[in-house]
Amino acid sequence: MSPPPKPDNEEARLDALYSFDILDSAPEQGFDDLVRIAAGICGVPMAAVTLIDRDRQWFKAQVGIEHPDPSRESSFCAHAILAPERTMVVPDATRDTRFADNPLVTAENGIRFYAGAPLLTREGFALGALCVVDDQPRDLAPFQCEALEALSRQVTHLLELRRVSRDLSHQLRERAWYEQQMRLYQAQLEQQNAELSEQTRTDPLTGLPNRRAFAAALAGAITRTTGTGDPLAVAVVDVDHFKTINDLHGHDEGDRVLVALADMLKSQAAGRGMAARHGGEEFVVLLPGATLEEARLQCEFMRQSVGLLPIGLPVSVSIGVATHRRGDAAEDLFRRADQALYEAKRGGRDRVVAAD
Ligand code: GH3
Ligand code: MG
Ligand code: MG
Repeated sequence: MSPPPKPDNEEARLDALYSFDILDSAPEQGFDDLVRIAAGICGVPMAAVTLIDRDRQWFKAQVGIEHPDPSRESSFCAHAILAPERTMVVPDATRDTRFADNPLVTAENGIRFYAGAPLLTREGFALGALCVVDDQPRDLAPFQCEALEALSRQVTHLLELRRVSRDLSHQLRERAWYEQQMRLYQAQLEQQNAELSEQTRTDPLTGLPNRRAFAAALAGAITRTTGTGDPLAVAVVDVDHFKTINDLHGHDEGDRVLVALADMLKSQAAGRGMAARHGGEEFVVLLPGATLEEARLQCEFMRQSVGLLPIGLPVSVSIGVATHRRGDAAEDLFRRADQALYEAKRGGRDRVVAAD
């Protein structure tokens, strides 16, 4: 037996074969059907689609072959691919020096007849063959040979279609992956934007809304009040002699006082209005729905709460409070509350003054 030599372009041929990703794949109806048709047209009991790997022959589809032999050494198709443009016909293997002592021939009921049409890619690589086999010597009529060649072209088409559809589904998967990445990226950006906008509205020391956030809340409250006619009050809260607290106890201690004060104002305004840090040691409280007297009482409660804060220092605040008058802009309302605060300072501090 002469083992089949390797084609000159073997490495490139193998690359081409591997690009189809077909070896060791599951059986597929399309290939099975073509093999059956080939056997039928040629009137033989056995047919196969074989692919010639580096050291083996692999059957994508076959009919009638009891023990498909994976050896490349004894493979007929490995000979067929040596002349890719031609169908190799062996009418009687016992009379062919290449095959006479081939174990597939010498076996009981061994191969006599073989015809293999190479599976030729567009680039000219023979991947394997569509072959028909019989245990009796025979020959092919020209129409059978032409049909075998036509069917082998169909096998190659099927391989190429399979590759295209696999590439497409790969691209679709990649695209889905990219789209998912884009969505993730967008969500991250939105999150960062939300954090940034939160930062621009929050005072970092106390965590209270800052002056900008307060201005927006006040503008919204005035619009609502104008529509409903409900009362609206604004209080300005300023720590008394805070500079002295800083001077006597240090800036850090001053910060601690501001944080404690902020927490108290926040909890008192919770659910009713909004407390914000207006700047320095000055806070503002928005009291929607409160008449001037109600607001004054609430502020009085806040003032007394400051004295009860467990901060170990004598701290007091002065508060000016005013209510919205029809036609007031935000600045008008705030200015009146600020003037009331000024009155409270002038009056001796640690007190609430309501602007009338
Ligand atoms: P008044 O009773 O008239 O309000 O007197 P005051 O000392 O509280 O007022 P003044 O405006 O003279 O001083 C306010 C001080 O608040 C000055 C400033 O250094 C201090 N201050 C402003 N922001 C901060 C802060 O974030 N932390 C600390 N520790 N001090 C601050
Ligand atoms: Mg002050
Ligand atoms: Mg001040």
